[in-house]
Amino acid sequence: MKPYTTNPHPARPPLYVYKLVKLWQKRMHLTHFGEIKLYTRAFKDGTAAETRWMKGYKGGSIHFGMKFLSNPTITYEEVESIVVHELCHFLFAEMDDKFEYYLGVGEVFFEYAKSREGMCDTIATILMARYKRAK
Ligand SMILES: [Zn+2]
Repeated sequence: MKPYTTNPHPARPPLYVYKLVKLWQKRMHLTHFGEIKLYTRAFKDGTAAETRWMKGYKGGSIHFGMKFLSNPTITYEEVESIVVHELCHFLFAEMDDKFEYYLGVGEVFFEYAKSREGMCDTIATILMARYKRAK
């Protein structure tokens, strides 16, 4: 299934992205973050999405790359996997903050962050496969 590419409010992602975030936020037990705010952004490097969270982990936002969302070849499943990947960052949020606090943002932190990216991809793949099978 392909997502629709016309977005009446270009500063916000299309409605199906909101629905995906809501669905996966519940599945991933991240409802304590409350309503995750969604935005689009003109990333210069083709970034698909970026996640931010508030202190106390009761709020956060996902910024989706405008180029990524408006790419006509992108599939619904690709957007879904980005959503699940970004929500994985919320799972790691507290650990990220603790690592950053105790290690500082240096080489060790960057190595951790690189590993965490791979972990988010793996977790997203496993979760999506699990729910696909359950349908
Ligand atoms: Zn990531």
